[in-house]
Order: sequence, then structure tokens, then C-alpha cells
Amino acid sequence: MSDRHRAIIPGSRYPGKWQGPRHAGTLTRPVPHPPDDSAIRLALWDIDGTLLHATGRLAVDAYNRALRATYRLVGEVARISTAGKTDRQIALETLALHAISEDQAQALLETFGTAYAADLAKSRTELAAQLEVLPGVQDVLRRLDSLGVRQSLLTGNLEPVARMKLSCAGLEEFLLPDVGAFGSDHHDRNQLVPIALEKLRATTGEALDAEQVVVIGDTPLDIACARAGGARAVAVATGRYTPGDLAPHRPAALLATLRDTDAAVAAILNLEPKTFDLKS
Ligand SMILES: [Mg+2]
Repeated sequence: MSDRHRAIIPGSRYPGKWQGPRHAGTLTRPVPHPPDDSAIRLALWDIDGTLLHATGRLAVDAYNRALRATYRLVGEVARISTAGKTDRQIALETLALHAISEDQAQALLETFGTAYAADLAKSRTELAAQLEVLPGVQDVLRRLDSLGVRQSLLTGNLEPVARMKLSCAGLEEFLLPDVGAFGSDHHDRNQLVPIALEKLRATTGEALDAEQVVVIGDTPLDIACARAGGARAVAVATGRYTPGDLAPHRPAALLATLRDTDAAVAAILNLEPKTFDLKS
């Protein structure tokens, strides 16, 4: 462990390593450093509300059309809370409200996913117009890349839909194509960190510990999945949850936005500074 990590917090999982969120205070600039064994080596990004904001309902409408057609649902598709859930989990919970058994639902999940991605692909141009890259995202991706941090996705989106959104938004450059975990890999988001680690190992031969991984997302379920996988959780309040909503879920760091590249990179990599300004 480098001297940089020696400081602070009694009771921390790693003696001398800061773990908790700081909501206000002086912002000092992080100092880039060569990675060591305890450093974060892989950043896994959520998409919706974290990298991108959708200004329209194209994807939601395509999802519901595919669900209705695949399972022959009658009437409006039941509405449930979807934030942070995988596309498959949303389907299973929705279908349960339509009295479709889990066995029936599971049997057609692949068919549903294919139909959803195909439907959305027909509106690719319109989808691109509805997706806004959130402020600061490109600069943070670029900076992490320059520091040698591998980056990919950890998202509830089905893989083809995730890739379509990224392509539409022009964010593929810094994200490893064959790594990452998706809603099509497992319906339970809490299972996705080890899946991403296994894909990294299979693709690059690099075997990382979960402690070298950070998950960045905008919902309590992103924080929970990082914790379940043994990874660092960084929450950003750029989706539907406010800092006040996210703080009780105890992410390792909490940011209002990604506008301040230095502060965001410091939070993601667990570098100095140890305080972040939520007013930015
Ligand atoms: Mg999200």
C-alpha cells in the first residue's frame, strides 16, 4: 500500500484507507500516481442516469411493445419502479403483475430481448437524438483512460441495447468492448461484478480482485451491487435520485455530478482529496 493511502478512518475495512463519503469541504486536487496492488484498476459504469440521460421515451416504448408482443399481454403494460433494475428483472416483475408465471416468463426472455433490441434498432437515429451525454462524462472517461484504468459497463440494459446507446452517444472509445456485465448476463444486478471480472480475465488474462474494481452508478441498486460484489461504490446524483436519497445507502463516495473532473476521478480512484463538494 502506498503512503498516499495511509491516513484516516478508524474501523475502515482497509486500515488507513479512506472509505466513507464526504459531503462538503475543501477541494484539493488529486495527484495521479502509478497503480499499485491496492489501486482501482477497473471502472464499471452504469449507463442511464450516469453516462447518459434520455430526453424521450423511445427505449421505454420499444421495451413495452416487445414485452406486450412476446407475452401477448392485453391492455397497458403494468408500471413498476425500474431505477437500477436490470431489463430482465423489470420484465419478470412486470410479467408477474400480468399473472404470468416465472417459468413462462423465463422461457421467453431471450425472445423478448431480441424483439426489444430489434424494435429499438429501427429508431436508431431518433434514439441518438434523445440521448444526452451527462456533463463531465467524456472528460472523466478520458482522464481515467490516461491514468491506465480499464473501463467498461455494468448496466441493467441488455447487451445489444447498451451497445446501441453507447454507439448513439459516441462513448465507445474508452470502454472495453468485450468486458462488462449487462442485464442479459443475469437478471440480478448483484451478480454482475463477478461476471465482469470473469470477462476481463477471459479477454485480457488480467485477474483482478473485486477490491480493485469501482462501480459508478446513480441508484441505490448500483451501490448495492458494488457492495455485493466487493467493489468500491461511487454514486452520482445525476439520475432520479438526489444526494440526500443516495447518502443513506453509504456509497464510498458521492458526487452531485461529474462536472469537476479532478473531484470525480479522485472519488472514483479513492485518491486525495477526501472531501467533495456536492454543490458543484
Ligand atoms: Mg442508472
